[in-house]
Amino acid sequence: MQPTRPAKKSLGQNFLVDENIAHKIVDAVSASPADLLIEIGPGKGALTGLLADTGARIVAIEKDGHLAEDLKMRFSGNPKVQIVSGDFLEYEFEDRTVPVKVVGNIPYNLTSRIVSRLVDNRVKIDSAVLMMQEEVATRLAGLPGTKEYGAISVRLQLVAAVEKLFLVAPGCFRPRPRVDSRMVRIVFQNREPLKDEDGFVMFVKSAFGMRRKMFRHFVASRYGKGSIEILEDRFRTGRIETFAPDEIYNMFALLEKNVRP
Ligand code: SAH
Repeated sequence: MQPTRPAKKSLGQNFLVDENIAHKIVDAVSASPADLLIEIGPGKGALTGLLADTGARIVAIEKDGHLAEDLKMRFSGNPKVQIVSGDFLEYEFEDRTVPVKVVGNIPYNLTSRIVSRLVDNRVKIDSAVLMMQEEVATRLAGLPGTKEYGAISVRLQLVAAVEKLFLVAPGCFRPRPRVDSRMVRIVFQNREPLKDEDGFVMFVKSAFGMRRKMFRHFVASRYGKGSIEILEDRFRTGRIETFAPDEIYNMFALLEKNVRP
């Protein structure tokens, strides 16, 4: 027997111990033998084993070298499972001919960075099923006009459908996290790159920095007073937090095209 190592807080290690939930997660992925699954942070393999049972090909990326070694041993007899010892944030998605589905009970402190990375690589990704902190799930899925709707909701929903799945209680993990968890499904829809996405991300962040003010104040501060003229009426009198993601992108494109910031 290996001595048990204490979970590493810095790596967001909360291992899933509830088998029903593990099965529900794997069902939500709905993998078939033709799929390629990328698992983020397999840990002790609570999901990896069940995912392997679907017959899909799996690439599982684990940053904790000890855990990665254990998993390599465990799956050494299965040629469809590849364990990568490394940081998912540095993982290079390759061009594949099969649909790539991402899955993971991810380290909660990296959720935004992981989601951004998936958005950046969406041309190569079909969908993602991720466990995250309930509060973050609510923001990703947040609708215009609610207080949860923010820059990250806009960025993600511009290119993907976001669906909150089931809630997972702290008792399903060891050690127990201090927060409720939620499974979220992200299905990428606009997979082709949009013009000046980096510029758009900055635009949205700054605009939400003034979310309680009329949107036109932000526009005037960034593009000059005269630029307000090209906005439709309802965008002049409304706040950014009430506009849909595609409306915000269209305004960004219009302003960038017609007025230099
Ligand atoms: N999926 C497992 C483990 C979840 S805990 C389960 O459900 O039980 C989160 C896992 O992500 C841990 O194993 C942790 O070591 C790993 N991890 C943390 N940061 C990572 C990173 N940047 N890249 C890949 N894995 C990471």
